[in-house]
Amino acid sequence: MKRGSPSTVVAGLHDIPDGSEFDFVVLGSGAAGLSAAVFAGLYGARVLVVERSGLIGGTSALTAGTLWLPGAYPVDGRSPEEDRLVAGRYLEQATGGDRLAALRGRYLDAASDAIALLERRTSVTFFRRDNHPDYLGAVRGAAVSGRAIEVADFDGRVLGADLRLVRPPLRNFTILGGLAPNRDETRRYSVIAARPASREGVANAVRAFPRVARHLADLLIHRRSSRLTLGNALIGRLLASLMRLGTARVVLNAQPVTLTRGEAGIDAVRIDDGRSSRTIRVSRGVICATGGFTRGPRRESVLGGLPLEWSAVADGARGTAHSLLESVGAVFGRQGTDAFWAPVSLPPGRDGRTEPYPHFALDRGKPGFVIVDRLGRRYLNEADPYHLLGEKMLAHADRAGAPSFLIADESAVRRYGIGAVRPGGWGRRRRLRDGYLTRGRDLGELGDLLGMAPGVLSETIERFNSFAERGEDPDFGRGADPYQRNLGDARQRPNPSLGVVARPPFYAIRIYPGDIGSASGFATDEHARVLDAGGRPIGRLYALGADMRSIMEGGYPGPGITLGPAVVFAHLAIRDAMGDPPGDPP
Ligand SMILES: Cc1cc2nc3c(=O)[nH]c(=O)nc-3n(C[C@H](O)[C@H](O)[C@H](O)COP(=O)(O)OP(=O)(O)OC[C@H]3O[C@@H](n4cnc5c(N)ncnc54)[C@H](O)[C@@H]3O)c2cc1C
Repeated sequence: MKRGSPSTVVAGLHDIPDGSEFDFVVLGSGAAGLSAAVFAGLYGARVLVVERSGLIGGTSALTAGTLWLPGAYPVDGRSPEEDRLVAGRYLEQATGGDRLAALRGRYLDAASDAIALLERRTSVTFFRRDNHPDYLGAVRGAAVSGRAIEVADFDGRVLGADLRLVRPPLRNFTILGGLAPNRDETRRYSVIAARPASREGVANAVRAFPRVARHLADLLIHRRSSRLTLGNALIGRLLASLMRLGTARVVLNAQPVTLTRGEAGIDAVRIDDGRSSRTIRVSRGVICATGGFTRGPRRESVLGGLPLEWSAVADGARGTAHSLLESVGAVFGRQGTDAFWAPVSLPPGRDGRTEPYPHFALDRGKPGFVIVDRLGRRYLNEADPYHLLGEKMLAHADRAGAPSFLIADESAVRRYGIGAVRPGGWGRRRRLRDGYLTRGRDLGELGDLLGMAPGVLSETIERFNSFAERGEDPDFGRGADPYQRNLGDARQRPNPSLGVVARPPFYAIRIYPGDIGSASGFATDEHARVLDAGGRPIGRLYALGADMRSIMEGGYPGPGITLGPAVVFAHLAIRDAMGDPPGDPP
């Protein structure tokens, strides 16, 4: 594909004749939907992707692009095949139940084949991310390296004019007007920001120069960065693969309004874009991959009406297609706490739009940070996996909106930043002005400003500091497993996760339990076929990604446990719909 060439993929609904037939209609253009479209293309099938928003990529475009994929690489001296068995035993303990064990087994068996097929035949490439531990390090079989894979950066110029259609990354995770550093760059750029004059800072700045220069040129030419990283790279690579295959059309700003069920199952979908409608006949399957329910009406009925502004999920996830699935008998299955969670803070944007900042890894588990409730008391382990932390916050907070506070001292803010305030303290003044950040000359003043009873915050921090000096946290066990230590700072001794909160001034930001994806979703079998109330598959209807009930049963055992199954079950669904052909596609 020539750089800058126009789209061969995106079409208007008016370009699709009424009554056209496709092998598949895929609803949603996130990682799940696009993976299904790519796999279908590899098997020679024609696909219509229908996307409700004007952008491609959904929440998937906002992610780190990490997939939890046991069986792709050796782990702790075990071959990939051996590790698959160990990972299976780990999952038995680490997930929230045992009803979906068969689906997890299928996932583990099928994972490496799906990824190998993508890597062999499409533009999608991954690499092994070392030191990305499983999240429940105390559970037997947890691994430190080898199960998390990440998508490789991508040159978005390959997409030509369609580059502008890829949903941009979360702006709080970008710098300089849209440069989204990948994981390694984030580490390097933090050193530049925190210690610009140090030898390491200067070396990193020299190394970053070409990347930054290209980004600035991109802003002039494309009005966005053309070097796609993380979730943007995953979506860019899937889209480029569709372009190469030439088997799919993507229609934006359109959605399904009816599903028609014939003898063999769903045989037609009516699509509407607000100006026109088309009935599309479907010969192999309808794939529902619309990104889950958490921003739709079920936010009220399932999540108890948590404020929408806490949601880090892209705005398309309103479950608008879900009632159609239910109209043909699909069953929405609840599990765990229904969603996946992370602590989020709410930095106001310059345009008045607040986009949540998910606190995944960059601050809360580092030395010098503590989380307290609104009374000023510690109530959890700050270095726990973000989903677990979100659940604890939900259980502790009153759902009406009481925040917890992430507290840090001057040293920690300078080293690591705090939320939208960058390492080196960049952005501090603005964030003090807009109220995102609160600063106290001492802990007494900070506690006062946060509305806490006199002395409580100081007492909490005094106790915490005594633990930090010893490198042990008898209250909550912080830094006890490889995940928690990895989240910390290796330079911190004896416990990488624990450092005192001692150097004034002191800072706080408000944090809330924010949803980052759906755990509850449509009940499916191990081919991702949607099931009815009797547990029977509804013909030619599949659910994937956040629309499929998570195979982890509400648990969050490792990094990438939503995108991994999204891609792998996309392959399984397509294979099933194509009649389970032997071996790879021709
Ligand atoms: C900041 C962040 C980082 C994350 N990082 C990771 C990670 O690294 N690894 C991981 O495994 N998980 C991660 N997650 C979770 C992950 O993002 C989601 O679970 C995953 O993206 C869901 O993919 P999907 O394809 O099902 O949905 P989406 O990517 O949300 O795509 C769904 C698409 O469907 C469209 N749509 C909605 N309704 C309709 C309709 N009626 N008709 C047509 N189209 C419709 C939406 O507009 C959207 O474009 C992260 C989440 C967040 C918020």
